[in-house]
Amino acid sequence: MIDLHIHSTASDGTLSPTELIALAAKSNLSLVSLTDHDTIAGIQEAFDAAKCYAIKCIPGIEFTIEVEHGDFHLLAYGMDLHNEDFLALVEEGSKNRSERNQKLCQMLFDRGIPIRYDTLKEEFQGQIGRPHIAKYLKKLGIVKSVQEGFDKYLANGKPFYLKTRGLELKKALSCIKKANGVSVLAHPMSLYLSWSKLETTIRSLKDVGLDAIEAWNSGTQARYCRRLEAFAKSIDMPVTAGSDFHGKNKPNNILGIRSDGRKIDEAYYSDNLRPLLEASASAYCL
Ligand code: AMP
Ligand code: ZN
Ligand code: FE
Ligand code: FE
Repeated sequence: MIDLHIHSTASDGTLSPTELIALAAKSNLSLVSLTDHDTIAGIQEAFDAAKCYAIKCIPGIEFTIEVEHGDFHLLAYGMDLHNEDFLALVEEGSKNRSERNQKLCQMLFDRGIPIRYDTLKEEFQGQIGRPHIAKYLKKLGIVKSVQEGFDKYLANGKPFYLKTRGLELKKALSCIKKANGVSVLAHPMSLYLSWSKLETTIRSLKDVGLDAIEAWNSGTQARYCRRLEAFAKSIDMPVTAGSDFHGKNKPNNILGIRSDGRKIDEAYYSDNLRPLLEASASAYCL
């Protein structure tokens, strides 16, 4: 049992990297990758904890990519964490995110909600996202739950919806490659494309260097995950699987478990990601 898509307190998860590794050990996972949003800040702590529990840990990250419709998230694995191009990419993603957060706080403040970006940074360590802002709205007593914060204020179509500017796809793919990393399209259904457009898009992403797609993500219904997996196989594209665990921020996503309730099989690593890591000469081909 493994998990290739996990968030910690370094972004919008609620468990620290150490707590995550401890939970992974308790849940009998043999391999994990921490994939925080636009940051690698939690990885060293995860590596250190993984050593204590004899769990394999592959470095990962989830980038926000610029796209007209929907959400394009790009996972990267096994990259050299000291590569300058890669670090510059992380820095750009992180900067885009803080610019969005600052603008969003200002928008809320201008409408009478006492929320300041500086206060938010003091309140939460790590990469801030909308779940933190929703949590703060709850703390202020403006909403009763994080979900209500999204439903009334922050979700797509709501008065304070503000997307983070994404990274340019080709640049991201090239930086990941330069750092000997592997690129994977996260939860492809979040692109909100019709099935036929999604197939065409995945084929052209493959042509520009995308290595694999994440067929299984807890945010995607099992019937779509199965269909994604079958489609990827038909075009000879490797597939990965992850729970997109966020701790209490997404209580339905269970570490190591797919959206059909089954355990995430080690084969998503050994038969899919590992050969890609090997081909990209990653130092983390465990
Ligand atoms: P951000 O990347 O800061 O824009 O925030 C994105 C995160 O917010 C996602 O990873 C989800 O965890 C969460 N999110 C986005 N939309 C919703 C929603 N409608 N309801 C609950 N959580 C959401
Ligand atoms: Zn998240
Ligand atoms: Fe995502
Ligand atoms: Fe995620």
